[in-house]
Amino acid sequence: PLVLGIETSCDETGVALVRGEELLVDSVASSMDEHARYGGIIPEVASRAHLEAMVPTLRRALEVADVDLGQVDAIAVTAGPGLVGPLTVGTAAAKALSIGLGVPLYGVNHVIGHAAVDELVHGRFPDRVMALVVSGGHSSLLLVDDIATSVTELGSTLDDAAGEAFDKVGRLLGLPYPGGPHIDRLAREGDPEAIRFPRGLTAAKDQGRHADDFSFSGLKTAVARWVEARQDLGQQIPVHDVAASFAFAVADVLTAKTIAACRRHDVGTLVVGGGFSANSQLRDLMAVRCAEAGIELRIPPIRYCTDNGAMIAALGAAVVRRGLPPSELDLPVDSSMPLTRITV
Ligand code: ATP
Ligand code: MG
Ligand code: FE
Repeated sequence: PLVLGIETSCDETGVALVRGEELLVDSVASSMDEHARYGGIIPEVASRAHLEAMVPTLRRALEVADVDLGQVDAIAVTAGPGLVGPLTVGTAAAKALSIGLGVPLYGVNHVIGHAAVDELVHGRFPDRVMALVVSGGHSSLLLVDDIATSVTELGSTLDDAAGEAFDKVGRLLGLPYPGGPHIDRLAREGDPEAIRFPRGLTAAKDQGRHADDFSFSGLKTAVARWVEARQDLGQQIPVHDVAASFAFAVADVLTAKTIAACRRHDVGTLVVGGGFSANSQLRDLMAVRCAEAGIELRIPPIRYCTDNGAMIAALGAAVVRRGLPPSELDLPVDSSMPLTRITV
């Protein structure tokens, strides 16, 4: 079957087509440049941008794939989590297409999509995989028995998500929004061991209840204190070393806890997804430590880590393959859709 995927949860308008397990096209328009001026995403601005980008992005996807709308067999759309206005634009478009074409509509979970997209890149998941989804809004460890029907959230961040912490530290260092990619770039030229920043929730006392949870706000505060203390003394801030030490602290915690979870649950394959999995410090450290631990590591190329339509088409295709019933045509958007809900 040919599945059309539509993503509008945040600031990327994504439209993709998947036939069977093959990605035919992935078309993305971003309103990031508009938000950069404000130092953050303004939901109203994002909603309007989706409204303007939806039809051109859809047209481009159909053109590139050389597909006629009439050939589409099913529509998958992000139902949540995300911003209500942007989600509403995407689901409205998807509902209209579903009615117009007379094909089933599937509302799916954006965060699960961040993991599902890897099936288009590295093939079907084995029976059981661990998924680490790290993005602007989430840092979650998921045990995936079936990407379409059975996902268990083992743990998540108690405060800031990894990407969010990077963006906040970026602001602190005076970098443009979003700070994540800038810190990544600076960190490559710094010493990751120059400053010993704290590793949240890694102490022995956290190993029981919070073994699979993350916390990055203490680290963020530690970086802020460190920087402010030097600023107060009129000292120059070694931004490369601060970026590298901070990035290493985040990657160290994510990597160590994820691998420990794989061991505890006896899972041999790890999938990493979400906007923050574009981070080179995480990718490098995870590759080294998974190799040491004998865990197969799957991380999609960077363009499928940040928000896109392919992740939604991928999850939609898995749901269709599973023969699950479609969503109602009045499906609601759910800004805080729980990760246990894969479809609505
Ligand atoms: P969610 O998926 O939880 O709804 P989101 O969709 O807003 O959140 P994504 O678009 O998946 O988030 O990811 C964006 C985040 O990833 C931002 O915080 C951004 O700074 C971060 N990010 C992107 N590239 C990098 C990088 N190379 N290094 C660090 N962070 C990065
Ligand atoms: Mg985004
Ligand atoms: Fe996302």
